[in-house]
Amino acid sequence: MTRSRPVRHRVPASVVDVVRLPEPFVRITLMLGGADGVRFDGPTRWVKLFVVDPDTGAQVGRAYTVRRQRSAEIDLDIVLHGNGPVARWAESPLLGEVVTVAGPRGGFTHPKPGTPYLLAGDESAAPAIASILDSLPVGHGKVTVVLEGGEHLLPPADPTMTSVCSLRRSEGMRKGTLITPALRALPKPSAGSVIWVAGEGGAVKQARMLFLNEWGLGRDEFSTKGYWKYGEPDHRE
Ligand SMILES: Cc1cc2nc3c(=O)[nH]c(=O)nc-3n(C[C@H](O)[C@H](O)[C@H](O)COP(=O)(O)OP(=O)(O)OC[C@H]3O[C@@H](n4cnc5c(N)ncnc54)[C@H](O)[C@@H]3O)c2cc1C
Repeated sequence: MTRSRPVRHRVPASVVDVVRLPEPFVRITLMLGGADGVRFDGPTRWVKLFVVDPDTGAQVGRAYTVRRQRSAEIDLDIVLHGNGPVARWAESPLLGEVVTVAGPRGGFTHPKPGTPYLLAGDESAAPAIASILDSLPVGHGKVTVVLEGGEHLLPPADPTMTSVCSLRRSEGMRKGTLITPALRALPKPSAGSVIWVAGEGGAVKQARMLFLNEWGLGRDEFSTKGYWKYGEPDHRE
């Protein structure tokens, strides 16, 4: 998997639409100012969204995947987990409110046709996994998705090429708990597969340990990223 490094911009953006998706998501559409012709979307591309913390009035920034782009409009699918300033802001953004978007960041170039994919994560990674599925090249290999929440965000897929394992947490279960046991139950991916996992930092670490210690993969054979971490506001990995 080759990473790509897009040129970054920092632009004002106004809230033009807010749609409640099935829990726990809200889709916020932002109209970007002063970034004509810039592509913010692409597989796993993300931006830093800066908003005013509704509790303190301070400006805070957090990472969100660009789920889709239409001209100068981008959609962000935000988990309403209730514990952080951006999640709380996202509960009731005002139409016309101006925020700041910095990016795009991240992303990767799809590998050669025929390469299989193993993609896994919790609901915070569902928009990124959806962005990978949206951009799969013609002739791609089989795709296996292991997703703990947010499966309704995935685009329709050809079931002969894509299998989705939707994991349901029971009440009170820590997020990410089910991911590594589900991965362990799968056959080890063939050499050269795209292996991508994101979500809660502790759960992602467990997946990393599986890849290194049980599947015997090298660190350059998979990509893992803690998108957030229990007890750590603004977690960065
Ligand atoms: C590259 C990248 C792409 C991302 N894409 C998305 C995306 O498309 N949609 C999305 O919703 N998130 C996404 N995230 C995760 C998001 O940035 C974090 O969840 C972020 O912490 C949310 O900020 P906050 O202000 O709500 O909470 P913070 O102030 O960062 O954290 C406050 C508390 O909330 C907890 N917390 C944070 N996130 C969650 C969660 N999801 N569930 C439960 N508790 C949580 C933390 O443990 C902490 O205790 C992405 C992260 C990265 C790095």
